[in-house]
Amino acid sequence: MRITRIALHEVELPYAGGVYRLSGGRSYTSFDASIVRLTCDDGTDGWGESTPFGSTYVAAHPAGTRAGIALLAPALLGLDPRHTERVGDAMDRTLTGHHDARTALDVACWDAFGRSVGLPVCDLLGGSTEVPMAPTSSIGAGDPEEMRARVAAYRDRGYRAHSVKIGALDAEGGPALDAERIAASLADRRPGETFLVDANGGLLPEHALRMITLLPPGLDFALEAPCATWRETASLRRRCPYPIVVDELGLLDADIAHVVASDLADGINLKISKAGGLTPGRRHRDLARAAGLTVSVQDTVGSSLSYAAILHLGATVPPRTLRGVLNSEDMVTRKVAALDTVVTADGVLPGRSPGLGATVDEDALGGPVAVWEL
Ligand SMILES: [Mg+2]
Repeated sequence: MRITRIALHEVELPYAGGVYRLSGGRSYTSFDASIVRLTCDDGTDGWGESTPFGSTYVAAHPAGTRAGIALLAPALLGLDPRHTERVGDAMDRTLTGHHDARTALDVACWDAFGRSVGLPVCDLLGGSTEVPMAPTSSIGAGDPEEMRARVAAYRDRGYRAHSVKIGALDAEGGPALDAERIAASLADRRPGETFLVDANGGLLPEHALRMITLLPPGLDFALEAPCATWRETASLRRRCPYPIVVDELGLLDADIAHVVASDLADGINLKISKAGGLTPGRRHRDLARAAGLTVSVQDTVGSSLSYAAILHLGATVPPRTLRGVLNSEDMVTRKVAALDTVVTADGVLPGRSPGLGATVDEDALGGPVAVWEL
């Protein structure tokens, strides 16, 4: 089985909630997806997606994703997509870093692998726990009472894990506003719900410590990505009473090893395109399991294909350590595929369809912007 053709599609994904606001004054209204289709010599297809969160989230941007895919795709022609680690070696030999570009190709290889053997990707990654996973909301920063209302709206739709964004500049209200946002977002917390308070690296240790002193007692949350650097995170870690989760800083396998070796955090946010695909993603999953870290399985953002990859990897994380999975599909208005999922009142699981379980709507993709063929 050999990869004989790779087609790249560019798809605009409008944000479903209007304007998404993050720390540092960052805002987003739409996302630019790169979607690839692998075709193999036996006719098997595989689909994968990588959608950066704009150009100011991690070191990735959509035009760069496509430039990276243009370098990587020719190196994968002729390879067996089922040999995912060897495909990763070929990408290592071709382009350093650029996990966003690698992700679409890596995920497409896993999809093709699953389709070729008639098994869902979660089986190839070790097997689903069959425990329904809590969908995680993503609550952009805003007015505290408005954030409280958005948490309630997600709660009404069955969401049991919530990611609440903070990180107000002093000129916007600073630590006092962030403390109000947290208190309001958690005000109606129900048993069984979990909350992440996510600064996306937007706080200095001083700001985080000031915010913590302004919080009412008894709030149950973990503080995600409080600071932008390892030094700042380590400094805050020594003085912070809340569990810390690493997100944007955890890119490489070595980053997760560093978190463990230095006891810098209690959990990781495993975003598939940040890690470089499902192949490194499963290593992060296993490192976290070995170290007793909690795991959120997410992606930077994305359409149905990103969500499918999230579900299949998430289903293989032990339930005790899995915080939740991000429904990226729910964050954007354009659907590019119908997914085989099992949704119950307890959560969501991937279905038993082969590969990612995605039936792609090729009309929604438009024609490819680039094709590489043997
Ligand atoms: Mg985060």
